[in-house]
Amino acid sequence: MSKRDYYEVLGVQRNAPADEIKKAYRKLAIKYHPDKNPGNKEAEESFKEAAEAYEVLSNADKKAKYDRFGHSAGAGSSAGGGMNMDDIFSHFGDIFGGAFGGGGGFGGQQGRGRRVNRGSNIRVKVKVNLNEIAYGCEKKIKVNKQIHCNSCSGQGAQNTSDFSTCSTCRGTGQVTRITNTILGQMQTSSVCPTCEGEGKIITNKCKSCFGEGVVKGEEIITINLPAGVEDGMQLSMGGKGNAAKRGGIPGDLIVVIEEIEDENLKRDGNNLFYEHYISISDAILGSSAEIPTIEGKAKIKIEPGTQPGKTLRLKGKGLPTINSYGKGDLLVNVNVWIPQNLDKDEQKIIEKIKDSENFKPKPGKQEKSFFSKMKDYFE
Ligand SMILES: [Zn+2]
Ligand SMILES: [Zn+2]
Repeated sequence: MSKRDYYEVLGVQRNAPADEIKKAYRKLAIKYHPDKNPGNKEAEESFKEAAEAYEVLSNADKKAKYDRFGHSAGAGSSAGGGMNMDDIFSHFGDIFGGAFGGGGGFGGQQGRGRRVNRGSNIRVKVKVNLNEIAYGCEKKIKVNKQIHCNSCSGQGAQNTSDFSTCSTCRGTGQVTRITNTILGQMQTSSVCPTCEGEGKIITNKCKSCFGEGVVKGEEIITINLPAGVEDGMQLSMGGKGNAAKRGGIPGDLIVVIEEIEDENLKRDGNNLFYEHYISISDAILGSSAEIPTIEGKAKIKIEPGTQPGKTLRLKGKGLPTINSYGKGDLLVNVNVWIPQNLDKDEQKIIEKIKDSENFKPKPGKQEKSFFSKMKDYFE
């Protein structure tokens, strides 16, 4: 699943200002708009690709994440595998000032046939701890949502014969008119106001759902989260959203990841960080220590003469990368605890040795400077 770089998709520089990004997207959206390219699968893919790129690059937050982590940041809908047309059209309002009329839906655009109802998406937040992120997990959640009406099997009518053809649209579900848009004059079909695009009218509505075909209910949904998810990531479960009116297509369940911060191990991408304090005598004489990792305790060796700020890298003890191989590292920052209270004897010992030549700082001899460490890390 290799994806093109979002900047490349929109054909803009990485430092392009927001209005240039918007302009670039607008151009592509017009070029690949499904109304201009009926039945052209390639154009549809390009149209979706551009929309996805714009969705990320037009959002300061998502853009920053993407700039830093690339596609693995999970910004936008990448985790769920592309955007759907309804989402794209619903964003058109701010791009074209309503020229495409927002909603509409792709079903109607393509086939010009009867409108298929689509249930709305539901967003839920799921909290995960570090262990669940490391190994992946299964979460069962209760979702309050629109579910099928059992009394009428979601059809909205008492009996299958309780329908009549809509007289406004003669069953087509559409009324046609000519409008001027930025693409020039366009014949647009809009949804029939009488039957809401369904082409038929219920003559005897179901008593349980009042003709809607859906009722309020709840569902226990099992979500399998892959290892390596990150805060703010979205995973989309097709068809698990609200049921659609009268037998349409259900919406999606959008699962938003919320990370519970671990009290010991801090995270940056797939690397983990741990702050470890040693005593001044351990720093001088050397020692060993136990530190927490996601797989339990690990032993580290403290060399004699360890400086505060020394970083130990435990390869592969970090987090897995989502949908990929390889693991990050665990970086242990060694700090030296300077005692703040000494008794008289201790005070004497320190005073005795404080002028020793060996106690004078000699930076740069064995430890990397702060700046070269930062450089190492960001490279
Ligand atoms: Zn109608
Ligand atoms: Zn019903």
